[in-house]
Amino acid sequence: MLPVGNKNIASRVAAFQRGKLPHAIMLEGERGLGKHTLAQHIASIAVCQGASAPCGECRGCHLCGVGSHPDVVTVSPDGKQLTVDKIRTLRQNAYLKPTLCDRKVYIVECADTMNNSAQNALLKVLEEPPTGVVFILLVDSADSMLPTVRSRCITLSLTPPSRDEAAEYIASVTDKSAAEIDTALADAKNNIGVALLALSGKNVGGLAHLASELLLDINNSTSYEMLVKLKPYEKDRAAIDSLLSELLLRISHLLREGCYTHIKEGLTRAQLIKAYDAVVELKKSANSNANTMLLFTNLCSTLKSL
Ligand SMILES: [Zn+2]
Repeated sequence: MLPVGNKNIASRVAAFQRGKLPHAIMLEGERGLGKHTLAQHIASIAVCQGASAPCGECRGCHLCGVGSHPDVVTVSPDGKQLTVDKIRTLRQNAYLKPTLCDRKVYIVECADTMNNSAQNALLKVLEEPPTGVVFILLVDSADSMLPTVRSRCITLSLTPPSRDEAAEYIASVTDKSAAEIDTALADAKNNIGVALLALSGKNVGGLAHLASELLLDINNSTSYEMLVKLKPYEKDRAAIDSLLSELLLRISHLLREGCYTHIKEGLTRAQLIKAYDAVVELKKSANSNANTMLLFTNLCSTLKSL
């Protein structure tokens, strides 16, 4: 899916679909404008095995859509910064052959948190890109990147859609009234992600973020602190189900990355495998278990006992 509005970007991406996929793309725009959505779309174009990429039906598109494609790797900061060590690991890995298709995609989240050393480490691989590898850098502002890195990338700048386009989209994914949507969009200056945040009262992409936080919490927080974070979702069945799915995605992502780098977040590979199995079991019981807080308590104690 392409971000709403942004017709200029749609036509650039259409050119990618005709086979001219650049090896480095920088997606620029503030949080909530759809950088991740666009990155996912471009990644699907790269790894699609259908006749008209992205076909949305082939194994490549399917795996990419659920975040499990082995040749689509997301690199994100462990803390506030994307470190030079992480970029060096990425660089080594980029020269290995893809697993499923003839292309590999690296989605580098928060690329503007790299310091100059990390950016220069990345620059080396952008200057001599391995065949078939596509780097997608996500940044709030391209100005925060070194000019040498910028000059190696095709930059696509996302902008908020028109009020009508944004309102139509939000109406299609929520049950909010037209007046509520209009007020939220006015406050958010038509930024759909920010408006959805205000309308839901929860974080944008909040569940994905929460899943990452819970994994970090295993060694750093008490069960009680974890439960406090889960409390706002107590009455939201769909959110609970999505949270467990996000946890599975995040754990499988960490396991995949563990094939070539150290396991992050202070967990061992064996712990992550146990966590995966435990979350699968919880997901099964989530559908039948009426007591949500009990489910959350089980989740926290399971994760803490790893
Ligand atoms: Zn496909």
